[in-house]
Amino acid sequence: MSNKTVIKQAINRILSPPVPAPVVKPAPPAPKYVDKTIVCAGCGASFTWEATDQAYYARIGTLSAPRWCPPCRRKRREFFQAHPEFDRK
Ligand SMILES: [Zn+2]
Repeated sequence: MSNKTVIKQAINRILSPPVPAPVVKPAPPAPKYVDKTIVCAGCGASFTWEATDQAYYARIGTLSAPRWCPPCRRKRREFFQAHPEFDRK
């Protein structure tokens, strides 16, 4: 091997393309929400917990599903507003 070849190889090594950067994994897709049917803890009626609502709940940091249908929730709210002496549990 001549000196020239050695130098050429050394230069080639230096000029060789850099190691490709590690592939960055794409962020996981945002969770998909689907409408859920929930049975109301109050009246037993089933109601739909809409995907848009779930996304909203998730955004404000509440992930638990509602236990009451909207009319019962409203009734409860009115009741507890009218009777603050009752514990809301
Ligand atoms: Zn209800």
